Amino acid sequence: MNFDPIPEHQMLRDSVRQFFARELPERKIREMDRARKIPRALWKRMGELGWAGLSVPVEYGGSGADVMLAAVFVEELSRQFPSMATDWLLISMTARILREAGTQAQKETLLPKLAAGEWLMSFGMTEPAGGTDVLGLTTRATLEADGWTISGQKLFTSFADDADAILVLCRTEPAEGTKRARGLSLVLTPRQQPAVAVRRLELMGMRAACTCEVFFDQAKAPADAVVGQRGRGWYHLLASLDEERILCAAMYVGITSAALDQTLQYAMDRQAFGRSIGAFQAVQHPLAESATELEQIRLLTAKAAWLQSNKRECTTEAAMAKLAATETAIRATDRCMRVLAGYGLVEESPLERLFRDCRLGPFSPISNEMVMNFISERLGLPRSY
Ligand SMILES: Cc1cc2nc3c(=O)[nH]c(=O)nc-3n(C[C@H](O)[C@H](O)[C@H](O)COP(=O)(O)OP(=O)(O)OC[C@H]3O[C@@H](n4cnc5c(N)ncnc54)[C@H](O)[C@@H]3O)c2cc1C
Repeated sequence: MNFDPIPEHQMLRDSVRQFFARELPERKIREMDRARKIPRALWKRMGELGWAGLSVPVEYGGSGADVMLAAVFVEELSRQFPSMATDWLLISMTARILREAGTQAQKETLLPKLAAGEWLMSFGMTEPAGGTDVLGLTTRATLEADGWTISGQKLFTSFADDADAILVLCRTEPAEGTKRARGLSLVLTPRQQPAVAVRRLELMGMRAACTCEVFFDQAKAPADAVVGQRGRGWYHLLASLDEERILCAAMYVGITSAALDQTLQYAMDRQAFGRSIGAFQAVQHPLAESATELEQIRLLTAKAAWLQSNKRECTTEAAMAKLAATETAIRATDRCMRVLAGYGLVEESPLERLFRDCRLGPFSPISNEMVMNFISERLGLPRSY
């Protein structure tokens, strides 16, 4: 059951489902999964449909959607193609930073191209020595006569291979004593230059998200390439975290609901002992549990999205939604795999892909252990790290 009181939301759901049925069937998605790449032409198509820049303000060529509508979109996109939702979420998050913190010139030049799906910006924060402990990053940028020079290494930078630019979180000023969050800046670095080398990673899940390792060896960026205030990059990121967590939760709502739909159908079709396996209680109960949990995460995500869209405090709710949705998706796909048994492991089965893809959720964009640390603090417990 969908809780969709707003007709605009249902229209978007229907449009995304129709688009996939018409233009992007499972066979094509599987090809992109195998090729570990989403072609640029598909981003362009997303632009034509108004989806590449769904959250970009109308005055910059986007659709101006609030977080509730964006969550509906991400849920539907993830039902079909989680790798694409991963990249979309990163694009949407970086677009938000541009929208909130960019200069007028940056907004006017970049947001319309991004909304049209013609210009791709990936996001480099994680480094080999620190994903969770991100403030320990060592990539540096120094301002010289001919602009910024960037040196260092990023790990797990999605679609960096194909991107036009990478928004790189790097140290531009020394940390102030123990305050490591100070002195970091977001430098928009052109990707296509010899001093930026990219190596694609062969991951188990989210293959088409094309996640890479990136090496900056005195890479160059123009002097006006900092997005937001110099030295305040971390704080610009913090402002986008609630939205990122809500949309991440919506992703795993989508994966859970797709896995359940496929499994219910299979349970009705598959025969054993003269009846459909869905008639056995041992098959029914795990699915009933996951269906219940799906409603819980859908409501938690919708509440956080509603709070955010109405400019209310939602940091705890966003964290809880991310935690619950990602863990629910893992449990649900495990249970669904049991029902599909051998067929679940066959590569052509969409469940096989969902099972692999959803393994990302518990640790990205933030690990659930850190989310629980954070929720614990909100409950009044002492900080544990
Ligand atoms: C497919 C994919 C796409 C990605 N895309 C991007 C991207 O585009 N840009 C980008 O910047 N990053 C990206 N990432 C990186 C992702 O955000 C990191 O993997 C994530 O932040 C976790 O970092 P880590 O893998 O280094 O784990 P680690 O930081 O090494 O953590 C390992 C374990 O230790 C636990 N741990 C660490 N510290 C604590 C603590 N204080 N308390 C409790 N537990 C703790 C963690 O919870 C985790 O279980 C991507 C990753 C993947 C796999």
